[in-house]
Formats: sequence, C-alpha cells, structure tokens
Amino acid sequence: MQLTNRSKQVDRRPMNWAEKMYMPAILKGMKITLGHFFKKKVTINFPEETRPFSPVFRGLHILNRDEEGRENCTACGLCAVACPAEAITMDAAERLPGEENLYREEKYAAKYEINMLRCIFCGLCEEACPKDAIYLTETFAPANYSRKSFIYGKDNLVIPDPKKDPEGYKKAKGLIDERKAKANQQTA
Ligand code: SF4
Ligand code: SF4
Repeated sequence: MQLTNRSKQVDRRPMNWAEKMYMPAILKGMKITLGHFFKKKVTINFPEETRPFSPVFRGLHILNRDEEGRENCTACGLCAVACPAEAITMDAAERLPGEENLYREEKYAAKYEINMLRCIFCGLCEEACPKDAIYLTETFAPANYSRKSFIYGKDNLVIPDPKKDPEGYKKAKGLIDERKAKANQQTA
C-alpha cells in the first residue's frame, strides 16, 4: 500500500552515450548557474559594504558622560541586578574632594566590567539605569583570540572626555542620541 505520493519510480534503463558523458547533468547544472548569474546578488562585499542594522539591533555598550565630561554612573548596581546573564560587575567608590570634575555624583564606579561573552544584548541594563549612564550602540565586539579580551572595562566602555577628545565625545553622543530616538520610535 502506498502511504504518500512522494515515492518515485527508479529509472533503470541503460544510459545512452550522452548520459555516460554526463551531458544532461552538466547542462542542467549550467542552466541553474546561468539562472542565478542574472539574479540580484544576495551577498555583499563585507567589510567594505555593510548592511543597515535592524531598528531593534543592540550592540556594544557605552558608559555616558555629561557635557562637562563627568561620568554619569553612580555605581548603584541596578544594571547588574537587572542583567539576566550576570555579565556586569562593578566596584563602587566615594568621590573625594577635588574629584567633582570627574564624577557627577558622590558615588562612582571605580571598576565597571561587562563580560561580552556572557552578555545576550537584551538591553535590560540600559532600561534599568536611572542615571542616563549606560547605552547599547550599533557596534559589535570585534573578534579576538582570548576570552579575557572580551571583558570590557571602563577604558573600553566610558565615552571620550569632551575636554580631551571633543570629536570622539560628539561621535559617542551621536550614538546615544540615535539610540534614544529609536527607543522613542518603538514606544510611540
Ligand atoms: S545587555 Fe542584557 S545581558 Fe548584556 S549586560 Fe545588559 S542586561 Fe546584561
Ligand atoms: S550604569 Fe546606571 S544602573 Fe548601572 S550602576 Fe551605573 S548608574 Fe547604576
């Protein structure tokens, strides 16, 4: 009894000379190749060309500074608590007299690390932050050879100081503004 109509009768007739030379199979293959030759390419010349990211793409994090170059993060730990991957660790410290130009509030993150191998780029840290301090951007972690290099510290995360690198600061702020605009679009 035949259960489906998917079975095919096997062709057992002897091959003719053209079939023995694989001519029909070659022509069939060439037809498929030529058919694809004139179709629009699905691949791109990465990294020279890049595709636009999805509006909901979430990439590498950055830690924000205010216009005076002071770090926004107060090491409250809410991002670490919100993180489902337990990828964020930090050490809090008290701001000392004379450090008002470095840290916006009395407490700051002396150490702040994100393990990018654990991170699932969910964006919950960004949503949990009450200090406008952490944002995910449209960049991704570059490939590397050691696991240690995927632990991003403050030197990788904090955006440039506007007094020392105004161009870098402006660029980083542009990424943050872009991120905020997209978040507003999604909630609208
Ligand atoms: S994006 Fe998600 S997983 Fe990654 S550090 Fe933030 S909260 Fe954790
Ligand atoms: S990034 Fe935001 S939520 Fe995380 S410790 Fe700093 S201030 Fe708190």
